[in-house]
Amino acid sequence: MGRKTVDLREMVKHVGVTGNFIKQDKARCTGCGSCVNICPMELWELRKNKAFLSGDFAEKCVECGSCWLVCESKAIEFNYPKGGTGVIWEYG
Ligand code: SF4
Ligand code: SF4
Repeated sequence: MGRKTVDLREMVKHVGVTGNFIKQDKARCTGCGSCVNICPMELWELRKNKAFLSGDFAEKCVECGSCWLVCESKAIEFNYPKGGTGVIWEYG
């Protein structure tokens, strides 16, 4: 069965200045690639066995928390952006 893809960019609006609500401890990163594989917005990439988060993640991340959940090395820290900033989901 094929994977159904949805363009999440059309469903969200980003508001305010969030700051760095995702942080990564490079020393803990094993380069397993799980965050790269799971991020629906393709905001992680592997380079030389380390994952790198896109510099513009704050404008693109949909705050699903999947990268944080899937990282078994606890190399990723995720906190929702401060009140009133970040993602607003829009339907229709
Ligand atoms: S899931 Fe964690 S350990 Fe694996 S590549 Fe991403 S940051 Fe590194
Ligand atoms: S919270 Fe979700 S959308 Fe944001 S970087 Fe992590 S996996 Fe990607």
